[in-house]
Amino acid sequence: MAELMPDSGSTATTAHPLVCGVRVLDKRFWTLTTEVGPAVQALDAETQGIVVRGSDWVSKLKTIRGFRPDLPVMVEPPSCDMHVATVKSPLWVPIDEGGDLGLFEDDPCALYVQAQRDLGVSLAVAPTGQIAAQDWATLKALVDAVNALAGPLLVPLVVSPGWLSEVTLLRQLIAAARRMSHPVALGLIDGNGDPLERKGVATGYRRFFEQVTGAVPWRADLSGLGAVAAGAPGLVIGQLPSQRRFTEAGRPGHASNPKDKTPAVLLADLARYSRAGFMHTDWFAHTDPIQCSLRCCQGRALDRFSHRAEDVQAALAHNHVVLSRLARDCFSRAPEDRMEWFKQYLQNATVEHLRLGDRIGKPVSEPGMFRRWREAFAAGVPTSSVSLGV
Ligand SMILES: [Zn+2]
Repeated sequence: MAELMPDSGSTATTAHPLVCGVRVLDKRFWTLTTEVGPAVQALDAETQGIVVRGSDWVSKLKTIRGFRPDLPVMVEPPSCDMHVATVKSPLWVPIDEGGDLGLFEDDPCALYVQAQRDLGVSLAVAPTGQIAAQDWATLKALVDAVNALAGPLLVPLVVSPGWLSEVTLLRQLIAAARRMSHPVALGLIDGNGDPLERKGVATGYRRFFEQVTGAVPWRADLSGLGAVAAGAPGLVIGQLPSQRRFTEAGRPGHASNPKDKTPAVLLADLARYSRAGFMHTDWFAHTDPIQCSLRCCQGRALDRFSHRAEDVQAALAHNHVVLSRLARDCFSRAPEDRMEWFKQYLQNATVEHLRLGDRIGKPVSEPGMFRRWREAFAAGVPTSSVSLGV
């Protein structure tokens, strides 16, 4: 990753917006959520933060500020979910939100950013829309629009996975992200599942974070650790499956099994989430279930969680403890050692899948992203920076 250099002669107050933004993100694991309930109390203000989303973000921010004034906090603008960016409107604030915040005058996007700051966010987030596949003209318009906004600021870059898997598009995406005055947050759109399972996306993901200084993964899942290994200073992981990727604006999301309402449980050794109900009926109908020895579960089984609210909260608490440990483990390594750490983590998880298969008497297929990351590991570090032919 390139060195972060403040402008010559800068001080803490006049440092480049990119430097100011990265300071907030650095070595921090952020949880993206619509909930501001009990889970917020468990967050560690030194190493973690919260990203709130939803149309009632103003009241959520005030709630968090009321009982956790120490906690770093950001907002995900509704534009990331709801708006397809165009050349004319790469940024967007919904009309009702504009009304609530009194933003009908002047430049509503600049005022929307200021409204976040007035409510005490740690880093304001630009209201960017989704960039459709190959829409280079809109991507360029987005660069100009966000560079006109005063920093420090985080810029969500929500794109279809094709931007990462096709080498010409990847070069354009990296070039655009590097032209931005602010750190970017890369989010991927996939209505059907994990976008990192698509061919070439993990390799492009690795390249992007190696070459875009200060960029962080947004609405990531465990692949966010791969982004950190490639150079991202921090990571934002969604609390629920639907918050670990984006759905195309205007399209409904897809649930892998809509009948199973039990929570998705993070299994540390297997480097995957699995629904408790699925584990209970499919994996552990005739054998002892996986247990969790951490303080969150105190030796109890990980397939115990039902769809009831208290069980869902308990599963989310477990997931957070596991993620915290993984993030801490990754950040504790020297930057040049993190990719090897992530590679080893997934290799061990592959072995654990084989062991689990032996134990329950049938093969357990590993998540598709494992194979894609193996391809990304094999791609290695580029000998020189990607030629930015734009
Ligand atoms: Zn646990």
